[in-house]
This record gives sequence, structure tokens and C-alpha cells, in this order.
Amino acid sequence: MNSKEKIVILGGGQSAVYAAKEIRNYDNKVEITIISEENVLAYERPPLSKEYITNKKKLDDFIFFNSEFYSKNNINYLKNTKIINIDFQNKILFSQNNNQFLYDKLLVATGSLNRKIDPNIKNNYNKFLSLRNNEDSDNIKNKLKESKKVLIIGGGFIGLEIASSANELDKEVYVVEMNDQLMGRSIPKKISNLCKKIHEENGNKIYLNTTIKKINFYNNSYEIKLSNEEIIFVDLVILGIGSIANTELFKNKDIKIDNGIITNEYCETSQKDVYAAGDVSNFFHPFYNKYIRLESYQHAQNHGICAAKNILGIKEAYNSIPWMWSDQLNINIQLTGLCDDFDEILQRGENIEEGVIDFFIKDKEIKGACGIGVKGKIGRDIKLASKILEKKLKINVSNILDKNFNLSKMLKKV
Ligand SMILES: Cc1cc2nc3c(=O)[nH]c(=O)nc-3n(C[C@H](O)[C@H](O)[C@H](O)COP(=O)(O)OP(=O)(O)OC[C@H]3O[C@@H](n4cnc5c(N)ncnc54)[C@H](O)[C@@H]3O)c2cc1C
Repeated sequence: MNSKEKIVILGGGQSAVYAAKEIRNYDNKVEITIISEENVLAYERPPLSKEYITNKKKLDDFIFFNSEFYSKNNINYLKNTKIINIDFQNKILFSQNNNQFLYDKLLVATGSLNRKIDPNIKNNYNKFLSLRNNEDSDNIKNKLKESKKVLIIGGGFIGLEIASSANELDKEVYVVEMNDQLMGRSIPKKISNLCKKIHEENGNKIYLNTTIKKINFYNNSYEIKLSNEEIIFVDLVILGIGSIANTELFKNKDIKIDNGIITNEYCETSQKDVYAAGDVSNFFHPFYNKYIRLESYQHAQNHGICAAKNILGIKEAYNSIPWMWSDQLNINIQLTGLCDDFDEILQRGENIEEGVIDFFIKDKEIKGACGIGVKGKIGRDIKLASKILEKKLKINVSNILDKNFNLSKMLKKV
């Protein structure tokens, strides 16, 4: 790129900072500016629902890079700067504090927004907490100190991780989920039911197929009527009803959006010189030959890195195999690949103590694998499953089923 060219990265999250780092690895002249509405440097979000709430980690422990990194690498990092409008024609971003930023190439990495509540119970909405950033996590942490009973609306990953942290802090926890399983968007039912059992064994009360019928708020406590007519009393309500791509800025703009900003395998959007990466993008995945939107740590990082290369003209298709994890109570859940297209499911492992992994097989190839187990029990096999599926190796059913068979042997045969 021309050394005077300006690359602007919109968003102060994982995709953004890894993209900036990658650009600088290849080009030490081009101007790089990260624009973030947050008032702290980019940090990892996973601890916000886990170790940060339970006071095992401080924010400084999970900042990606410190301020010296940005100054040493000549990366302008603008905090407290919310972009409120964009002019693609003239390549200008407009901020809430009345500044304008010109770009030659723009990377959009604005992440996700929490889904809003059912309008029927919106009267109390402003009193509910939800979790997306460190300030939300601080709020939850502070409110938990004064609360004994907590209701979490939504049995997705973030809701369940908060349920797990609240349980660890000795709170009485209720989780209400409208669907017939927890984490239904991505986790197969059998694994999700094992997870539910662990929560229940630890004292958390989980309601499936249940919605909130009515909420009354008095004297700092809530009376909640559930759709099964049961009434529960809690002193804190947390919403964890999923998230959507943060594309608010691009409403009515000339850029293709459908469940996120549409990008091809090179992270290019439909708008010239505009790229997108991470949670905000619904990207074409050549390996699966379809569009996918992911909300996961590893993807955000790899996608940002891939976008950086393409911005610099190093043509590289994004082909990373999806992988994500969740830690709840004493268990770890991991998912690799996709578990939505298969002709058989093979189960490896019998119980949580040794780990249970479901392999999703199509045409004798692993398409995805999802496991649950006591921490440390499933990571190795999930990692091997990723490698085997990436190489499209034909599997032998009995090897997958046999917990004593080392899956790495399948890779050595190649
Ligand atoms: C509580 C929590 C726990 C999680 N736990 C896990 C986990 O256990 N495992 C896992 O795999 N994944 C987990 N994730 C998901 C993972 O953290 C995300 O997928 C990842 O952070 C996405 O990175 P990103 O860069 O795309 O977006 P983000 O990290 O969300 O960053 C987006 C940034 O853009 C900024 N922004 C947005 N709009 C504007 C604007 N108009 N102007 C300026 N700035 C703007 C936002 O403030 C934010 O700083 C978790 C997420 C959360 C919230």
C-alpha cells in the first residue's frame, strides 16, 4: 500500500486489535487508527461472565495489548469515540463528539449487540441487567453483592455462564428458557441436557419451555410469574437472550446486510474498500460452502488477521474451522466445525468425568464435534477432531467410538 494511506478500524474488540497488529507486521508505514466507543483498551470478553464476576481476574489481566504496544507500533487508538454516521462515497466516518475521520480502507469490527427483551415485559426492562462489556460486568458484580436470588432470562452461553458464576458466589439461581433445550442455537440436545443436569446438581433451577408471563417490581425485589403459573421471587434479573450483529450504523446505507454484514471469503463487503470481520460479519466459508455468522473468540481473532492481509492486498481466503468453548461450574463445553448437517452421530465417552463427545458424521467424514466434560477431559479429542475434519479424512466408526483409541493415529496415516 501507499505509505500515506489511512486504514481505519472501527471497533475496539478482538478482531480490531488483531487486525491492527497484523497490518503492522507487514507494513510499518501505513497509517492505522482504531476507533472505539469504549473507554478502555480492547480486552478479552470471555472472562466478563466468568473469572471477572467471581473476582478471580481483574480487567488488567485480560487486556489484549497494553498502551506501550500501540505506541511502539504507531497505532492510533481512539477511545471514547462512537461513530454515528458514515459516508461511503467520500470515505468519511463521523463521531458523536463531532470529529470526522477519513479512510482509504475501512475495517468494520463492531461486534454484536445484545438482543432486547419481549415488549410485553418492557416496563421493567430498564431495571434488568445484561452483559456485553466490562461496565455491564461491573454492574452485575455489584448487584450480585446485594442479591440472594437471581433470575436469568435465557439459557444461552452467556446466561448460563453468569448462572454458573452466581452459583459459585452462593446465590440462588433461576434460569428461564423458552426453548426445549439450553444453548439451542449451537449445541446438540444431548450435550445440552448433560449441561442442564450439572447445573441442577449444583442447585440451579432451570425451566425449559417456559416464558415470563408477568413481572412486578416492589421494594427492590421482583415477583415473577412464569408461563407454567409458578411464581418466584428474586432480587436481580439478568437478560441473556442472545445477540445480533451490530450493524446499526449501516441502516439505509449502501452495504449488503443479512444477519450481519455480508462478506466474501476475503472479508470484503459489497462496498468498495470496506471490509468486515468478527461477530458483525456473515461471511462466506469456502470449506462449508455457505455463509456463517459466528460469535466466538478464536474466530474473531483469526478473521481480523485474515481481513488485515486482504486489506494490504495479500489475497487470503478465510477457511478457519469454527471452534468455541464455554466454562460452566466444573465443566467445559467445546464445539468444532458445524453440527447441523450429518447422517449419523457417534458418541465417544460415557460420562462427564471422562468426557462425552458427539461426532457428527456425513459420508464417513467428521463435519463437527461437540463435547462436554470435567475441565481438561475433552480438549485434546476436540482439537484432533478439528484437524481430522479439516483434512476431510474418512473415519473408521469403531475408532471414534473407542475412547482408548488415540485419534492422533488417524492423522499419522495420511
Ligand atoms: C460475556 C461474554 C462472554 C463470552 N465468552 C466466550 C467464550 O467463552 N468462548 C468464546 O469462544 N467466545 C466467547 N464470547 C464471544 C467473543 O468474546 C466474541 O465473539 C468476540 O469478542 C467478538 O470480537 P469482535 O472484535 O468481533 O467484537 P467485540 O469484541 O464485541 O468488539 C466490538 C467493538 O466495537 C465497538 N463498537 C461498536 N460500534 C461502535 C461504534 N459505532 N463506534 C465505535 N465503536 C463501536 C464496541 O464497543 C466494541 O468495543 C463471549 C462474549 C461475551 C460478551
